[in-house]
Amino acid sequence: MKIIFIGPPGSGKGTQAKRLASRLEVPHISTGDMLREAVAEGTEVGRKAAPIMALGHLVPDDLMIEIVDERLAKADAAKGFILDGFPRTLVQAEKLDRIVGNGKIGLRVLQLLVPDEAIVRRITLRRTCPQCGAIYHLENQPPASDSVCDRDGAEVIARPDDNETAVRKRLDVFHRDTVPVASYYKAKSVLREVDGVGPVDEVFERIEKSLA
Ligand code: ADP
Repeated sequence: MKIIFIGPPGSGKGTQAKRLASRLEVPHISTGDMLREAVAEGTEVGRKAAPIMALGHLVPDDLMIEIVDERLAKADAAKGFILDGFPRTLVQAEKLDRIVGNGKIGLRVLQLLVPDEAIVRRITLRRTCPQCGAIYHLENQPPASDSVCDRDGAEVIARPDDNETAVRKRLDVFHRDTVPVASYYKAKSVLREVDGVGPVDEVFERIEKSLA
């Protein structure tokens, strides 16, 4: 099963993609997580990406394609994968077709639909664990004990790009560059549109139904 998640920032892509990956026993490949790791480790990629990400802009296609190409070549991705955050531009989508072999067979693209107004509120209350990547929401899904991660006790933080200015920029970029990617897959009849508004469990059920 090769699954691609498309959705605006804060649509729940990461949360749902992680759940689906453990259900299907395939790797969850999040380009955002990979970039954040590179930033934390201070690698060359990380140093290039950090200021771009903080402003809510896209990291250049060439760099992203290289990162994803390398990741998909690893043995664990052979049986399938869930891609979260890639492709985000038409150039990336066309390149991915070549990497996965014009990807119609076994490819499903899930688009999570969440209106822009809901996004800003969701994201400014989002917190993540810098250790394990767990995602919380201060109102809807807070950690059990104040501001520390349920799994490892690390202090949960707001991502540097989860401020209102960067979120609005990321939404603009999503509409301009990524919505055409959804249309690209729609034309290939592999797109499934799923309502992303509602409790995490309900959205997950909708996702599973749309894949059945
Ligand atoms: P979100 O979907 O919540 O905006 P992600 O964690 O998927 O966040 O990505 C965070 C940032 O990483 C993006 O705003 C962008 O700067 C960069 N990024 C991630 N994936 C890509 C990609 N495929 N192409 C370009 N930039 C990317």
